[in-house]
Amino acid sequence: MALIVQKYGGTSVGSVERIQAVAQRVKQAVDAGNSLVVVVSAMGKTTDGLVKLAHEISKNPSRREMDMLLSTGEQVSIALLSMALQELGQPAVSMTGAQVGIVTEAAHTRARILSIETERLERHLNHGEVVVVAGFQGISNSDDLEITTLGRGGSDTSAVALAAALKADVCEIYTDVPGILSADPRLVPDAQLMTEITSDEMLELASLGAKVLHPRAVEIARNYGVTLVVRSSWTDDPGTRVISPTPQPRPLEGLEIAQPVDAVEFDTDQAKVSLLRIPDRPGVAARLFGEIADQNLDIDLIIQSIHEGNTNDIAFTVTQQSLKRAEAVAAAIAPALRNHADPAYGEAEVMVERAIAKVSIAGAGMIGRPGVAAQMFSTLANAGVNIQMISTSEVKVSCAIAAADCDRAIAALCDAFEVSSSPAQLETFKAHDEAMPPVRGVALDLNQAQLAIRHVPDRPGMAAKIFRLLAEHAISVDMIIQSQRCRLKEGCVTRDIAFTVARADADAAKAALEAAAPELGCGEVTVNRAIAKVSAVGIGMIGRPGVAAQMFQALAKEQINILMIATSEIKISCVVDEAEGVRSLQAVHAAFGLGGNPQVSVHAQREGAVFQ
Ligand code: ADP
Ligand code: ASP
Ligand code: MG
Repeated sequence: MALIVQKYGGTSVGSVERIQAVAQRVKQAVDAGNSLVVVVSAMGKTTDGLVKLAHEISKNPSRREMDMLLSTGEQVSIALLSMALQELGQPAVSMTGAQVGIVTEAAHTRARILSIETERLERHLNHGEVVVVAGFQGISNSDDLEITTLGRGGSDTSAVALAAALKADVCEIYTDVPGILSADPRLVPDAQLMTEITSDEMLELASLGAKVLHPRAVEIARNYGVTLVVRSSWTDDPGTRVISPTPQPRPLEGLEIAQPVDAVEFDTDQAKVSLLRIPDRPGVAARLFGEIADQNLDIDLIIQSIHEGNTNDIAFTVTQQSLKRAEAVAAAIAPALRNHADPAYGEAEVMVERAIAKVSIAGAGMIGRPGVAAQMFSTLANAGVNIQMISTSEVKVSCAIAAADCDRAIAALCDAFEVSSSPAQLETFKAHDEAMPPVRGVALDLNQAQLAIRHVPDRPGMAAKIFRLLAEHAISVDMIIQSQRCRLKEGCVTRDIAFTVARADADAAKAALEAAAPELGCGEVTVNRAIAKVSAVGIGMIGRPGVAAQMFQALAKEQINILMIATSEIKISCVVDEAEGVRSLQAVHAAFGLGGNPQVSVHAQREGAVFQ
């Protein structure tokens, strides 16, 4: 007999008929001899409706009252599903997050789970009842026992956390698509279903906009080794399995906050090439990285910072052995990248740094936990290490630093995060079989804004201060890019720092930075809300030259200008104009050969039920 946690999303319980169909499915699993805990979301678009109501009353409703309001949606569906099960003769009991004992932080509207009491659940299960639990909600650990919610889409997280706490055999997420596809089928009709995906790849996709799973759900599955499956609630097809390596045992106490970093990794065989003042127009990155790929050179990190006037900087890292050839390609291309639009900017300039090291902290949920990256930056600052490039992803934050600083940096990071260090594990990935596609999936995030801080003094500790400040406001940051170009301002060497945040956080981030700018000695803070972030993710891109070039070429072919580039080992993200987001996604999906026949089954399912 297995213990199964099933979760049904909003559309899966969107009507009386759907709730009855879910009850049938649950009963079938019980009749097959399993014990079931069922997590449900609010019916259909109920949560959106409640948010709208709140905004009709208040422009800036209190977070506490939002939790009070939004948590009601799930309370309706748990009661109805329990009734539907009872109608089928299946004993069932509904429970709110508080009744179960899903204990969270007090942070309203974005609370993280601290612990889950299992005793009451187990008592009901032992009586042969199905326990139907309200998703997305909990109760605070403070004295006043406040109702909290986990953040939009958080029922997935409730389900996986329950599965971890109960040591369930499997957690099944039932939704309105057949599983995890190579892209959102609403935007890319020929997206293909995957039978499997690694939790690292899924973490990246989820945090880059693939909302089929809440990123924190994947994080918990990875950390606790929960078997996770995403399936359609309309069919019996097997769906997609999210594969996690066997994790180190970890305590259930502090479930979503404990030990974010598993290891410190380093790679001392890196060199950096920067091209300054290249024209800000479509096709430049495609051409540069196309020629580098033709030389079969493997690039590690790539960043392109925000433009200044009508030019950009691009920097990338290669192994020291490849530096000479990479530099030659860059030098050969530079004269051709004359800025015709504004001759005053002259030719592109190539700069190289021969001895770079990359130090990384690896774990799960790096972006979702804003304090983690900030802690890395302040640890490096305290060790007197200047950060040259930053690469963020959900599974890793990496900093390129001078090779001479590497040992000091590693020692400080191991100490700060209480973990041991190891050389980067890339070799194991390089051994992957050739059949592995370089890119597994693509995602689009239309809810991001770009912020830039001009004239940040170029000295250790500035990134730490800026990102600590944002972390204190609970603002998660992605795509952090420091310009390669230095400018003198009042005798001080400065750089610009740009990054992306959730659009909803843009005003708060701007206000916090503007308030701190005089003290930090920084210049103006600018915001661009009209952006889209398109990303390609795949473990197969490690050690395979030309993948980034392929993505840039796909965008260039569509005449789409790239505003920012940031890569990590298993993802490439480009910021483009908001209006070009969907077209970019489609172009990149097609370029990596991810398309197939249109998903007939997806369309059939949607009829009437999904895309009302
Ligand atoms: P639920 O209410 O069941 O939680 P969601 O709307 O939160 O459902 O998530 C399912 C939706 O995620 C799908 O309808 C699809 O449009 C979207 N989606 C985005 N990216 C992907 C992807 N890569 N694979 C599958 N679905 C995706
Ligand atoms: N009902 C909540 C939402 O719409 C939680 C969820 O469905 O996961 O965000
Ligand atoms: Mg969802």
